[in-house]
This record gives sequence, C-alpha cells and structure tokens, in this order.
Amino acid sequence: MAAIRLLQAEITGKCQARCVHCFNDSGPKGSNGTMTADDWRRVFRQAADVGTEVIQIVGGEPMLHPALPDLIAHALNLGVRVEVYSNLVYVPSRVWDLLTHPRMSVATSWYSADPAEHNRITGRPTHARIKANILALVARSVPLRVGVIDIDPRQNASQALEELRRLGVTDCGIDRVRHLGRATTTTSPDTSQLCGHCGQGIVTVLPSGDVVPCPMGRWLVAGSVHSNSLADLIDPVTALARHEIPAATGVTCRPPCEPQCHPGQDQCAPEKDGCVPTKNCNPAQPCKPRNPCRPDVTCRPTP
Ligand code: SF4
Repeated sequence: MAAIRLLQAEITGKCQARCVHCFNDSGPKGSNGTMTADDWRRVFRQAADVGTEVIQIVGGEPMLHPALPDLIAHALNLGVRVEVYSNLVYVPSRVWDLLTHPRMSVATSWYSADPAEHNRITGRPTHARIKANILALVARSVPLRVGVIDIDPRQNASQALEELRRLGVTDCGIDRVRHLGRATTTTSPDTSQLCGHCGQGIVTVLPSGDVVPCPMGRWLVAGSVHSNSLADLIDPVTALARHEIPAATGVTCRPPCEPQCHPGQDQCAPEKDGCVPTKNCNPAQPCKPRNPCRPDVTCRPTP
C-alpha cells in the first residue's frame, strides 16, 4: 500500500498578514475553501491509516480557522505528531491548551530584528505580537522551529537569526524566498523554485481538496480528496512530482550544501534548512554542517 510520512494540511488561505513574498497569495480575503472540518477529519484518519507520522497544519494562517483546536485534538487522538505552521500573530486559548501535548510542535517564519523592517514585509504591525508569542512558547518549552526568510539584502537575516537565539529559540535557520505567489517573477508557475523533495513521502491537501506534492507546487494537482481517498492519490501525486520536478532539482541546484545542524537533531535536514544540494553533491556523503554541533550527522539529500 502507498505510504507517506508527512501530510501537509493547508486548511485555509485566510491570513491577517499580507506578506510581500507569500508563495500562496494568502491574505485577509482568503477563504477556508471547500474542505469542511468533517472532510479534514476524514483525511487525517486516512493519513493515519497509511502510516503518516506527522500532520503539519498550515495556511494561510491556521490559527484563524475555527475548527483548528478540534482538528489538532483529532489528529493527536489518531496517534500522529502534529505541527502547526503559524505566523504566531494570534494563538487562541484553546490552542494554547493543546500545545503542551508531547506530540505537538510549532513552526513559524521571522524576518528581521528591526520591527519596522519586519512589519514592512508582513504588511501589518506583527513584530511585537509574534515576538511575544515566541517568548511564550519558549517559556512553555513547546518545540519551536523558526525560519528566517531571506527576502532582500536590506533585511540582515543574520541579525534576525541572532535575535531569535537571544529569545531562546534553538531550532532556527535561514531559508531563501521562493519566487511563487506574490513573490513570483514569471508569468507561469516555475518548478525551479521547488526544492525537489516534493512528493517523496509527503502529500499536501489544499483548501479546495486538491492533492498536490507540496504547498509551493500547488499547480501540480493529482486529484481531489472530495472524490478519492487519500491512499488512492499518493502514487499519482508522487509520479506527478517525479515527472514534473526533476528539472528543478538538476538545473537550479545551488552551492553550498551546508544544512545547519540543530542540537539534539539526529540528522541534518536540508529540506528544513533551505539547503539545496549542488549538482555534484553526493547524497551518500555526509553534509558539512555550518554549525557543527553533531559533526557525524548524515545528510538526507535529494536522491
Ligand atoms: S507568508 Fe504566511 S503570514 Fe505571510 S501572508 Fe502568507 S500565510 Fe500569511
């Protein structure tokens, strides 16, 4: 039977922010699409049935979805790990109650140590609220990973990373902006913006019910959970990703292959750190972490 390790559930396109680089064009006018809470519960159950280890709930801003607390609780009851990828502008009290569950984690993006610069990127005065919620998560020891999205040179991403570490965030790194959605520079979708890991044990369901290899590769639709079970769409979406995306991994690979190593992490995770192995990178060789906390780590690179 086809299996996946990660389901990315994009439960909404609605967001309070309107970031200049948003790859799926989310914002205040976005919607929860055609997927009801019952639909999501059914998909989560189907994901658990095919061995999914992690359900990552993303948006838009998932904290704005009224069913989020119930969906988190449902996923935890299925025995999987749950990560909420949020902008952390607002966290409902019912979600706070769930975040200390041992199988919960949170991920977010961060832009600048300078509040004005940060707010310019998000299009709203978000810096202070996000910072306060980061501090609250750290204080509660909720596993938190933060990516600094390097959008333009004025932003000083390194300084932003230093600020995160001062706030107590240990799992953080710098990622590149993807030129998709509001950040696009082309008239048609560009597979070169994808990391190449799409569809490899990972499936994304969009608010429309469409099944795609990755939230960023949202035009690569293999089918819909409204008319098929998730299990029936895993092989088609994997095949679609393999057919459409190899050119992206081969042509646009960029040196250096330097995934950051995070304390306590068993393996480097280049897809997590925004590392794109070079064309000549040998997947069988260990990557060389920039922060060598675990020098013996083995890279999980693109095949
Ligand atoms: S990048 Fe995230 S926070 Fe910004 S508009 Fe898009 S979904 Fe919202």
